[in-house]
Amino acid sequence: MIVSISASHYLDPAADTLLARFPAPRRALFLDRDGVVNINHGYVHAAGQTTWVGGIFELCRGAHAAGYLPVIVTNQAGIARGYYTEAQFLAYTGWIHAQFAEQGAPLLATYYCPHHPTEGLGPLLRECECRKPAPGMLLGAADDLGIDLGTSVMVGDTESDIQAATAARLRQAKLFSGGDLPPFTEMFG
Ligand SMILES: [Mg+2]
Ligand SMILES: [Zn+2]
Repeated sequence: MIVSISASHYLDPAADTLLARFPAPRRALFLDRDGVVNINHGYVHAAGQTTWVGGIFELCRGAHAAGYLPVIVTNQAGIARGYYTEAQFLAYTGWIHAQFAEQGAPLLATYYCPHHPTEGLGPLLRECECRKPAPGMLLGAADDLGIDLGTSVMVGDTESDIQAATAARLRQAKLFSGGDLPPFTEMFG
C-alpha cells in the first residue's frame, strides 16, 4: 500500500538559506505552538493576542547552535470550527516567523492541521492523519524537508504531542508544564 504523506504547512521565506546551512539528513526541534511558543489564551490567531512563553527564543537559538531546525506542528481546530480562516492563520503564522527571525532564532516551517473529527465545517470535518496525536505532520515535515525523525526532538504541553512524537519515533519528546522553557542543552543535552 502506498501511503501518501501530505500536511498543510507554511514555509519560512528564508527556508532555502536554512536548508542550505543544515544539509540533510536534518535534525528538527519540533514545537507544539499553543502552550509552548505562545501562551494558550484559546484560539489565538492575531499578533495582539500573543504572549510569548518565556525562554522560547533562547530555546530556538540553542537549537540552531546544536544543529536542530525549529519546526512548529500545531492542531488548528479554530480553522475547522470557522473561528478564523486559513488565510488569517497563515498571515498570523507569517508574523510569528518574522518575530523569530528578528530574534535570531528562525523557524524553518509551521505545519498545521485545519481539521476536526466532530466539529469541523464542510470538508474540514474529518478524521485525518495530521491532527495530533496522529504523527502526520511530523511525517510530512520529514518527507518535505529531509528531516531524520530518529535524531529529532520535540517539546509539547499535552499528552497528544508526546503521543505524536512517539508514533513518529523521535529521539526524545519533552512534556512542558508551564513556566519558562529551559535552554536547549538542558532539555536535550
Ligand atoms: Mg499545546
Ligand atoms: Zn488534519
